[in-house]
Amino acid sequence: MLNSLFRSKHRYATLRPRESEATRAIPGGLWTKCEGCGQIIYNKELKKNLMVCVRCGFHFRVSAPERVCQLIDEGTFEELIDQTVFYNVLEFPNYDERIERAQEETGLDCAVLSGIGLLDGHRVVLVCMDFGFIGATMGSMEGERIALAVEAAVERRLPLIIVSTSGGARMHEGMLSLMQMAKTSAVLSRLHDESLLYISVLTSPTYGGVSASFGWLGDIIIAEPRAAIGFAGRRTIEQTGERLPEGFQTAEFMLEHGLIDMIVERKSLKQTLSKLLDLHLVEREDSALEREGAENSEGPILGQLDDAAASSEATAVESQSNAALQEVDLGADTATERGVADGQ
Ligand SMILES: [Zn+2]
Repeated sequence: MLNSLFRSKHRYATLRPRESEATRAIPGGLWTKCEGCGQIIYNKELKKNLMVCVRCGFHFRVSAPERVCQLIDEGTFEELIDQTVFYNVLEFPNYDERIERAQEETGLDCAVLSGIGLLDGHRVVLVCMDFGFIGATMGSMEGERIALAVEAAVERRLPLIIVSTSGGARMHEGMLSLMQMAKTSAVLSRLHDESLLYISVLTSPTYGGVSASFGWLGDIIIAEPRAAIGFAGRRTIEQTGERLPEGFQTAEFMLEHGLIDMIVERKSLKQTLSKLLDLHLVEREDSALEREGAENSEGPILGQLDDAAASSEATAVESQSNAALQEVDLGADTATERGVADGQ
């Protein structure tokens, strides 16, 4: 039954930042308090610096559309459109309203945005998750969209990049939500069988069913500095009597223990991905803009960011506390549930 609900052919459309996205403000209007160093930062300065604190390097969360603008050459992104529709299969109370609200707040129809575009001239399938959408928890729609994006990469023989963030599996869908781990892992094995490159980029926070499935399955795993990454949160694990070391569940700790391949600052992420694609002999194409000889003195990243103008901070920060309470993980016991909150 579910198969017939979700299976659909791709259509393609050019992605433009939505009105709501462009006008969404950072809390407090002109200024934002850095979560890293406590300094007050001028929002324009923060935006220009790709939502990274210029003083301490703290990486703020960015929305999925903004991430696309940061990574994909201007005017080349085509969203993978499919006919996945939301369905409250367990008739979970208030879930429909929760989804509607998240859709309004983010301008997205689920926590996953996927498409095909040029990354520094390399054609790639890019998937970005949006924490502003119910903590980027993974439900059936998110799992299906990721599976379709992987299939698009296989069909077109393109490399795949997934930029993850998530509070874990989505409690409202119970077992179906956990099944997305198996589903996304299985479809990724097809990509692997075809010898296609998959780069996983983990951003803060990435927890639960997402880190435990496609998050960790990258051929190359990159994380942003100081990103919180893990399965169950620190407090949950400590309840079992385990004593955890300093810095546990940070990108730096993961790198030291061989769980990820590199930590890359946001300002270097596009360049690093481009180099990796070069190393894997992914050919470059000229973007349409280059062919037309268009001049953009600001460069693609800043130019587009000004248009997109948006950060998901407002929604993300606001929904963080809600989201933390609404997600459970594999194992779905209460301890794990608290762990997700802890992980943030
Ligand atoms: Zn700071």
